[in-house]
Amino acid sequence: MLKLSEQQELLRKVVREFVENEIAPIAQKIDEEDTCPVELFKKTAQLGFNGVFVPVNYGGAGLGYTEMAIIVEEIARHAAGFGMGLVTHYMAVYAIMTWGTEEQKQKYLPMVCSGSYGGLSVTEPGGGSDFMGQKSTGQLVDNEWVLNGRKCFITNSHCMGVNVVSVRTGEDAKGRPQLSAFIVEGGAPGHTAGRKEKKAGLRGSFTGDIILDNVRLPQDSLLGKQGDGAKISLGTLGEIGRGGTAAVALGILRGCLEESVKYAKERIIYGKPLSNLTNIQFAIAQNRTDYEAARLLTYNAVGTKDAGKPCSSEIAMAKFFAAEAAVNAAKRTMDLMGGYGVVTDYPVSRYLRDAVATIPGCGTSHIMQIIIAGGELRK
Ligand SMILES: Cc1cc2nc3c(=O)[nH]c(=O)nc-3n(C[C@H](O)[C@H](O)[C@H](O)COP(=O)(O)OP(=O)(O)OC[C@H]3O[C@@H](n4cnc5c(N)ncnc54)[C@H](O)[C@@H]3O)c2cc1C
Repeated sequence: MLKLSEQQELLRKVVREFVENEIAPIAQKIDEEDTCPVELFKKTAQLGFNGVFVPVNYGGAGLGYTEMAIIVEEIARHAAGFGMGLVTHYMAVYAIMTWGTEEQKQKYLPMVCSGSYGGLSVTEPGGGSDFMGQKSTGQLVDNEWVLNGRKCFITNSHCMGVNVVSVRTGEDAKGRPQLSAFIVEGGAPGHTAGRKEKKAGLRGSFTGDIILDNVRLPQDSLLGKQGDGAKISLGTLGEIGRGGTAAVALGILRGCLEESVKYAKERIIYGKPLSNLTNIQFAIAQNRTDYEAARLLTYNAVGTKDAGKPCSSEIAMAKFFAAEAAVNAAKRTMDLMGGYGVVTDYPVSRYLRDAVATIPGCGTSHIMQIIIAGGELRK
């Protein structure tokens, strides 16, 4: 049985109250306008959400990854796009916290904990799944690193304060691409946001290009050692990005469950509530079971990370299951609502658009299955 601590349940209560008061009333507006709610992000910073797993001495709340998932689930229950922006921010925070020098941590962690948006830039036009195929470069010229290239599909692209960027810095001894990670401030000369994608779902977090045009960086912008880029980006995506995206999908699943129950009780058909029909009960049962299974997988995965144990398979399973289940639950809930399912006054069609967008985010379901199968086959 999954049991969260009393403090964790208390945190959930605080986040839920905040979300119901401050986010739920504007969730539809955020989706329609597809803006990045920077002011809201400052409020979540004030509540300690933005640096939830960062030690207190760097401006964080000193909690863990389970608490991260609680915050993301509660936010995504009403505004999955804003939740995804927060998840991507957490990736930058985690990379700096885990691989940064003391100076880097002291400089950047208080910034990202107090309202500055973080981002992680890996994907390029050549394909996000082809991680080692990145073509952006970093060259050491006159004691400075010079970054060039184009990243695409980057969340928080147009509101970025601190970007953790992966580029190619040479080849390793076997002739394979050597990747390194750098901390780049959003306003650094040559670092600009380019095209902004018009997404079907997860609107409310910007997703777009980051152009690197002769971005000159001091040597101490390197995160970890030269050649640590793959370890840093994959470690961050694999644990924080996917764990967080699973929690986004979990929030959508809870939305589907709650909306299906509410509608089935309120809608009168044949003179009785819709919930009297057995097939409607089947849909509610499936929504409840999907939510519960995704909840167990997600909190088990982040709990494994909190325990300091290897968790990439657990996290891939949670992300794979929760994202696919959220798509199915949203479609099922729309069906349950008949014609009203496609009316945008109800949030459920937005849940479907949001759920579909969680599938490619931080690695597709195909890639999750390759990771899960790989873990089994190596045993
Ligand atoms: C909402 C959203 C937010 C995102 N945020 C970020 C971000 O902040 N930072 C960032 O760096 N990236 C981000 N991405 C990019 C995301 O990581 C990529 O979209 C994802 O990795 C897939 O890459 P791709 O879109 O290039 O698809 P491709 O890699 O071109 O894949 C196309 C298809 O081929 C399949 N495929 C690919 N390789 C294999 C394989 N080896 N075996 C079997 N099937 C395969 C895929 O599953 C998919 O079905 C975001 C994407 C979205 C949608």
